[in-house]
This record gives sequence, structure tokens and C-alpha cells, in this order.
Amino acid sequence: MEKSVETIRGDRDGIAYEFAVLRLKGSAADAPSAYIQAALHGDELPGVVAIDALMPRLRKAEKEGRIRGNLTVVPRANPIGGTQQLFHSTQGRFDLGTRVNYNRDFPLLDRPDVSLLPGDEVAMTADRRLKARLLKLSVGHEIVLDLHCDDEGVAYLYVPEELWPAMADCAAAMGVDAVILWGGQSGASFDEASLHPWLKLPRKEARLESRVISTVEYRGTSDVYAGTAEHDADGIYRLLVARGVVADQSVEAPKPFAGVVAPIDHIEMMPAPCSGAILYDVKPGDRVKAGARLATIVRAPGEDGGRVEIFAPQDGYILTRRSHRFTGAGDDLVKLVGIGPSKRARSGALEA
Ligand SMILES: [Zn+2]
Repeated sequence: MEKSVETIRGDRDGIAYEFAVLRLKGSAADAPSAYIQAALHGDELPGVVAIDALMPRLRKAEKEGRIRGNLTVVPRANPIGGTQQLFHSTQGRFDLGTRVNYNRDFPLLDRPDVSLLPGDEVAMTADRRLKARLLKLSVGHEIVLDLHCDDEGVAYLYVPEELWPAMADCAAAMGVDAVILWGGQSGASFDEASLHPWLKLPRKEARLESRVISTVEYRGTSDVYAGTAEHDADGIYRLLVARGVVADQSVEAPKPFAGVVAPIDHIEMMPAPCSGAILYDVKPGDRVKAGARLATIVRAPGEDGGRVEIFAPQDGYILTRRSHRFTGAGDDLVKLVGIGPSKRARSGALEA
């Protein structure tokens, strides 16, 4: 394994950011290559510890000559967001200078050629510099995994609809609970920027059936445990074996994926009608019937009529809920995956 360090010049003199890149070299020229990054939203740690648990498996494979395809791993992809602190709270989602989500506004390349990306000599803000650098590291790999987490949630994947059901083996190998399929534009999120150049190529050249691109949501922000890290590392490792990046005869081929699969327009975001304290009736992984109570908002404590109840608009599956228990009016309370399209579906990636 080789380690190198990338440097991103900051927006003020005297400031620079660093992040590590770990590389393993494959022995088979025809094997697919893989790129894995975590914590693009600077404080999302489940993927970081999953990579920490994965690397010993890969180093063992390397020692035994079983790495077939090249691997590039960025355990902490966003040193800018990871160091933005405000009153002991990490501000890892939005850049405090540009106010742009770190997982939006990636450059959309017209072909898979990193020479099209702006270099360090171009004047731009540090967050844009970081995004160009991450694409420079990732474009060209057949497998691209971007490890995130939700507020409180099950383990689930966002998968471009062009890559489904070809990626069903990956979902099964990773042992996730659900897959959300998205299409069209997503605000130039990292996964959209990873797919976009291939969609510009003729279908035959793009070889979409062999590509893996996913935003991986490893449960909630606080689900940072040794046990889940090992579980997730096993899942990524099985994917790498299933797709031929790593050889390991002890790993069985994945069984058919048995989790929830739904298009993104089936997701009901359930905004709170008022502010107050949230009393949840449901947790991630629950199945609910239309009309079931999802939560009660304590709007006017101690007063008659001071509680407001929220009900499921259709049968579905609870993908996520909030980690905080105070809500403002209009804030989303849960992501419910309905059995049919939501009447108020939103387009693009949902808070990924
Ligand atoms: Zn995220």
C-alpha cells in the first residue's frame, strides 16, 4: 500500500488543507478498479471507520497477491468541512465561505478525461478546488463509492437508475437494507459527476453494465461503532470480490438482493406542520400502513389541543428520521419510502 498526501490551498494566505490517499496496485490489467471515499460531508464518520476496518483486509490481500484491480481510497475526503467548527459543532455539510453543499456543484465533464478539470493555477475557492481534485482522483475507476450517513437511518444506497438492476449484486454484497434509484439531474452531486461523463459516451464505449457508482448512506451520524464498521468493511470487501477487484475464494457470490428498492419519487419527506418537540412512533426499518401515526409534535405543552399528530400518507418503509428532537415548522421529520409515487415528490438527491 502506498500513501500520498494531497494539498488544497485555502481561501486565505497561510491556510492549506491536507488529506491522505491510499493506493493498492492491481496485478491484472483487465480487472476493474475501485475508488472509495468517505466524509465528503466533513463530520460523517461511519464510512471513515468502515474504511479503517477495510484496509487490513486489503493489505492482507495485497500480501497474498490477491489484489487484481487498482484501488484508490480517500478515508477523509473533506479536510475543509472537517475543520469548520462553530461553538464545538462541526459544520461539515456546507462550506462556510461559499455556502454551497460539499456534495453539490461538482464539475460535470463532457467525457471521462481529467485533463478537462481546472488545475491549481486557476483562481477559484478552496471548496471548488477540492471538488475538482476528488474527481481527478476518482474518474476512470469502474467502481466509485462515496460513503455518507443520514441523521438516523438504515444502511441504504442511492443508485443511478441507469446502473440498476446491474448493481443489485453490489447491494446484496454490501448487506444494505434499501436502495433508492435516482435519475436525471441531482445538483451535480459527486455521484452525478461520476456518472455524467460516461453517459456522454456511446453506450457501447461507456460499458454501464460494469460500472458501480453509489452514494452509500451508512445509517446515522452517531452510528460509529466497531461492530458496524466491521460489518460495513465486510460488505465493501464482498463487493470488491464480487466485481473482481480482489480475489478471494472464501467469499461466496452474493445472493439476490432482498431489501427495499424504490425510485426516489416514492419518498415522502413529511415536513413538520409546526414547531415543537418530536415524539416519534416509528424508527428506521419499520414498515407502516397508510394512516399510521408517525410522530406527534408537542406544539403547546400542557394546553388542550397542544399536540399535532403526523400520519403516513401511504403504506411504506421508514428509511430515516431526525437525530434531533426539536423541529421547526417545515423541517422534514422522516423519509418514508412509499409503495407508490409521493404526491409531493422532490427531484434530485435528498440531503445526500
Ligand atoms: Zn453526507
